[in-house]
Amino acid sequence: MTKRILTGLKPTGEQLHIGNYFGAIKPFIDLTHTEKDAEFFLFLANMHGFTQLHDPKTLKEYSLTILKLYLAIGINPNKVFIYNPAEIPAHAQLNRVLSCLTIMGTMERMHSYKDALAKGKAGELSVGTFNYPVLMAADILLYDADLVPVGQDQKQHVEYARDIAEKFNRQYGETFKVPHPLINREVATITGLDGRKMSKSYNNYIGLLDDEKTLLKKVKQIATDTKTVEESKNPDECNVYKIGKLFLTPEEDQARRKKYLAGGLSYKEAKEYTFEKMRNYLAPIQKKYHAISDEEVIHMLAKNTSHIQEIAQKKITEVYKKIGFTLS
Ligand code: AMP
Repeated sequence: MTKRILTGLKPTGEQLHIGNYFGAIKPFIDLTHTEKDAEFFLFLANMHGFTQLHDPKTLKEYSLTILKLYLAIGINPNKVFIYNPAEIPAHAQLNRVLSCLTIMGTMERMHSYKDALAKGKAGELSVGTFNYPVLMAADILLYDADLVPVGQDQKQHVEYARDIAEKFNRQYGETFKVPHPLINREVATITGLDGRKMSKSYNNYIGLLDDEKTLLKKVKQIATDTKTVEESKNPDECNVYKIGKLFLTPEEDQARRKKYLAGGLSYKEAKEYTFEKMRNYLAPIQKKYHAISDEEVIHMLAKNTSHIQEIAQKKITEVYKKIGFTLS
C-alpha cells in the first residue's frame, strides 16, 4: 500500500504562528518534495478548534484563513488532499467507537487535558477538550496514515493513536495501520518571544501574517539576558538566535553562530538582523495569502470531499461490521 502522510492544524487563532509552520507544516511540505510516491492528507482541524471557538462566524473565518495559509506557504493542492473532516461523518463515528474503547485514566494523563486543567477548573472544561486525543486518533486511523508530522507537544497524542490502533487490531482483527509520529528534533519545540514554547495561548508568538510593524515590535520584545556587547554569547541559549535561525540558510547560520561566540554582538544588532531575515521570508507568503480568495479554497475542499469520503467510509464500514454495529 502507498505510504500515507497526514497532518492537520486547528483554526483557533486569527492565523498560524511560526511554531506551527516550522514545527509541523514545513516538515510536511518538505516530505511532499522528497517522498515522491507517498499520498498526502492535510486536514482542517475545525472539529478540534470547536473545543475553544463557539462563535460560528469566527470559526468559519479562522478556518478559511488556515486553508488559504496552507496554499500560501506552498502546499501543492494537486499533490495534497486538503479537506474538512466536519463534512466527513466517519470522523465523528470513529471518534464514538474509540472513545468507548478508551478508559478515563488514559485521557487524564494527556497533556492537552492537563494543560487545559492548568488554565481553569476541571468542571468547566468541555468533554470535547477532555477527549480531544480520541478525535485525533480517529482523524489519523481512518486514513491508514503511516507518518504524522507534528511538534513535540503532539507526540503523546500520536502515541495514544498507536496504542488504540493496536488494541483494536488485537480485539477485532487487523483493521488499522499503526501510525508513527514524525518529529524533527531541530524544530520539535519552537521558542516563543518569552523563551517558553511558542503558543497562541501564551500570546508569545510570531504570526505568519504579522505585518512589518507588528513583526518589529515583537522582535524587540524577545527576551534576552544582561550580557554586555563585548561578552561572548552562547547562541543556543539566546532566544533571538533560536527564533532567527529558522529563517537562515545553513551558511548564514554558521556565520551567525561565529558572531555570537566571538563577542562584540549587541542584542540590538541581533534583533535587527533577525527582523530583516524574518520579514524577507514572510513577505512572499503574505503576498500570496492576500491574493487567494475564500471561493478558491471552498472550491478546493469541494473537489476533494468525495475521494476523502470514500476512503473514510470504507474504513468505518469495516469497523462497524467488526464491532457488531452492522446487522446485515
Ligand atoms: P495546533 O495549533 O495545536 O493545531 O498545532 C498544530 C501543529 O503545530 C501541531 O503539530 C503542533 O505540535 C505544532 N506546534 C504548535 N506549537 C509549536 C511549537 N511551539 N513548536 C513546534 N511545533 C508546534
